[in-house]
Amino acid sequence: MILKDLPKHKGLRNQLVVIIEAKGIKDKNVLSAIKKIPRHVFMDSSFIDFAYQDKPFPIAAEQTISQPYTVAFQTELLKVKSGDKILEIGTGSGYQTAVLIELGAEVYSIERQKELYNLTKKFLPKVGYVPKKLMFGDGYLGMPDAAPFDGILVTAGAPYVPKTLLGQLKIGGRLVIPVGEGSQIMTLFIRKGDTSFEKHEFGDFRFVPLLKNSNK
Ligand code: SAH
Repeated sequence: MILKDLPKHKGLRNQLVVIIEAKGIKDKNVLSAIKKIPRHVFMDSSFIDFAYQDKPFPIAAEQTISQPYTVAFQTELLKVKSGDKILEIGTGSGYQTAVLIELGAEVYSIERQKELYNLTKKFLPKVGYVPKKLMFGDGYLGMPDAAPFDGILVTAGAPYVPKTLLGQLKIGGRLVIPVGEGSQIMTLFIRKGDTSFEKHEFGDFRFVPLLKNSNK
């Protein structure tokens, strides 16, 4: 890992933000978080030249760091306010976690791959991003001890919408989840009452699958 953030990297980030804005992201707080966070330090140093392309990229344990546009799109849908309690499913590299922390959220995050969980747990505080809680486990189950949440963000493709996650939202809370096998439809649920939810569907995306159970 290269932890330095050089003017060259800042310049590349500014260009990346222009691209993401042109693709339709409007939320100024989301754009400034992406402008600020050194995405290259979340990737292996040999891939540094790819860090500021608007593309997903392989990380450890056959997983990916999501495409910056996708991170921005999901975060915008979540409408994070400072102090919000957010659950992320799929910690991965911790990049999305950092974006949420930058927006002032208290972040709880679950990762099912032990190797990634260990790496990211050590790494995030080193770059100044301290989540409220990182958990090794199965995201399908959510985090009942910490629920309810203002927002839940799923960063892997879910074959169906886990009811458990809907049940861990506050009234008014938002679940952002890519749903489908192969490719996914970005879906937003807003909790209106105990058993009532509003559902909105957005475009097609492609994620690594949300797998059952944890993997030691
Ligand atoms: N937010 C990450 C994206 C990583 S890709 C980032 O910004 O880098 C999706 C992640 O979800 C992978 O790390 C994968 O291991 C994890 N994942 C898959 N199924 C899961 C599950 N059931 N529970 C928790 N995490 C899961």
